[in-house]
Amino acid sequence: MLEVRGLRAGYGAVEVLRGLDMAVAGGEIVAVLGANGVGKTTLNKVLSGVLPAREGEIRFDGARLDGATPAAIVEAGLIHVPEGRRIFPTMNVRENLELGSYRRGRSRRAANLERVFETFPRLRERARQFAGTLSGGEQQMLAIGRGMMAEPRLLILDEPSLGLSPLLVEEMFALIQRLNAEGLPILLVEQNVVQSLEIATRGFILENGTFAMSGPAATLRDDPELRRIYLGL
Ligand code: ATP
Repeated sequence: MLEVRGLRAGYGAVEVLRGLDMAVAGGEIVAVLGANGVGKTTLNKVLSGVLPAREGEIRFDGARLDGATPAAIVEAGLIHVPEGRRIFPTMNVRENLELGSYRRGRSRRAANLERVFETFPRLRERARQFAGTLSGGEQQMLAIGRGMMAEPRLLILDEPSLGLSPLLVEEMFALIQRLNAEGLPILLVEQNVVQSLEIATRGFILENGTFAMSGPAATLRDDPELRRIYLGL
């Protein structure tokens, strides 16, 4: 459903993404993996319409989305959960969630809120708490819950494991798997190569602005070169 062809992007004289090709089909969890500074955030910015592509095409269900505004991209159902849990700290949990349906899902806001609370009982318990006082893991849940309020057709998660303890990372990845099993395709942009490849169907390894390796997650997991570079094995 998402197709990226020959994508190039950067800042000024710096070219960060140098010709990316990838696709996410319905039902998949696709992982885009890479170390610090390789351009994961840049890719997310282009996919959400914040940074223009310099070259290439982005299609979502056949429709061109490169050059589209962030609002139009959200309206198409490509919903992005930003890195660093960018929630609104001085608004409560419920208000943060309701903002998620500002552009999409508004007419079913109550039903969607109920669904998010079913998925994250902890958010229901804390519905009136200021979001800024939630724990790191709870803030990450809130960011994902807010994305779900927009009735995503494809959810892009930007480093959901960032800053979480190992136990919480496991919980977060189990949750991502569950959302996917319920029918939601996911693009998972992560530094955590090992755990991402455990839940992903396919993976793309970003290095020097291009996808140095890609393939079924199981194949990548067993790749000696990848294990050497990313796992130190
Ligand atoms: P991390 O995992 O550390 O967040 P990343 O893979 O998300 O890293 P990006 O944030 O996409 O990496 O950055 C890729 C490269 O682009 C880096 O070298 C960074 O310094 C550079 N860069 C990012 N934003 C800008 C900007 N606004 N102007 C110039 N260079 C930038």
